[in-house]
Amino acid sequence: MSSPTIVRTSTAELYDAHVLKNYARPALTLVRGQGTQVWDDAGNAYLDFTSGIAVSALGHCHPHWVASVQRQAAELIHVSNLFRNPLQGELARRIVQHAGPGRVFFCNSGAEANEALIKLARLHGVQKSGAEEKCYKIICAKHAFHGRTYGGMSATPQDKIQHGFRPLVPGFAFGEINNLQSFVDLVDDATAAIFIETIQGESGINPCTPEFLRGLRRLCDERKILLLLDEVQCGIGRTGKFYAFEHADVWPDAIGMAKGLGGGFPIGSMWVSDRFAELFHPGNHGTTFGGTPLACAAALAVLDVIDRDGLLAKVRLQSGPWLAALQQLAVEFPQQVLGVRGLGYLVGVQMASDPAPYLAALRERGLLAPSAGGNVVRFLPPLNVTPADLVKSVEIFRSVLEAKR
Ligand SMILES: *Cc1c(COP(=O)(O)O)cnc(C)c1O
Repeated sequence: MSSPTIVRTSTAELYDAHVLKNYARPALTLVRGQGTQVWDDAGNAYLDFTSGIAVSALGHCHPHWVASVQRQAAELIHVSNLFRNPLQGELARRIVQHAGPGRVFFCNSGAEANEALIKLARLHGVQKSGAEEKCYKIICAKHAFHGRTYGGMSATPQDKIQHGFRPLVPGFAFGEINNLQSFVDLVDDATAAIFIETIQGESGINPCTPEFLRGLRRLCDERKILLLLDEVQCGIGRTGKFYAFEHADVWPDAIGMAKGLGGGFPIGSMWVSDRFAELFHPGNHGTTFGGTPLACAAALAVLDVIDRDGLLAKVRLQSGPWLAALQQLAVEFPQQVLGVRGLGYLVGVQMASDPAPYLAALRERGLLAPSAGGNVVRFLPPLNVTPADLVKSVEIFRSVLEAKR
């Protein structure tokens, strides 16, 4: 076996020579993970509050997840959607248990789940207006992030994401979250759906208020348009409810999910309520890889552990003191920390300046966290993080703030 030093050099060289340069990332190579910890190729350990961007819901290499995936990999991995497989039906049943009466489509990513939502909106518009190209508008939110495909990107009104890729898909308009009137003003007879993140993730952890969500629900009912919620980042338990919209007791017509669903294995899905599920029929949507036995085994393992270990209640219980401790940092370091936003384990710390030097300092002290838009340090611990690790994250953050005072 080669020594770690040689591995590190060659990883950097291989990236420099062969990997597309579409990401700006630190020179950190991760080689192993266990629970909330990951190790780099020099043997340094980190507390991982990135969780692969809210994906590794059970931390790294959870024993039940690993056993399920290993067992399934030795049994049946992929058959395509030309055939049934028993795990896809069971996973759909489990999602319906959380989301309500409806049906589930499986894909491989958040962007694909959102594409399915956008296509659902188009089908609804055709049914509502009786013709194509008459009712197709989708009202999204300013500062939204819905993914990098043409549909998702067209629903993402950010120049840094759209630049160079125009012309976009037509028919998207943008209101302001928590400003119901701005959505009311945009609805007309050509509107098919309202499509928003329950909590905006990439743009800096900006939650929709319960009143706003209830207002959108009423608006959609009155105007016979779909309420589509992107729960790709905030769903699957991250806020202490299975879906973030449950906090507002507002139920959408369809949901996009991905990230945490597979616990690290790529899987996305769209749930659509019974009322609108018949808009899809054989032949009008599909994907080769969606809902493979292996992907479904991974997702079922995540849902099993969430239930078995009571993780939703744990997130609600443990996030309170942790959020309070982070808020306290805003009191102690008002020059640097302007505030803390979020719910459960989807948390944004609003910094007064560019978060990049803070993230680098956190990394040097052994804590991995991503940024989010608008000078935000984002913390996304796994759902089964221990109170001790939550305390440790605050201590590391405090030491960074002290050093930079
Ligand atoms: C990450 C994310 C997406 C895109 O998911 P991918 O799996 O990267 O395609 C879409 N919406 C939200 C809210 C996200 O956080």
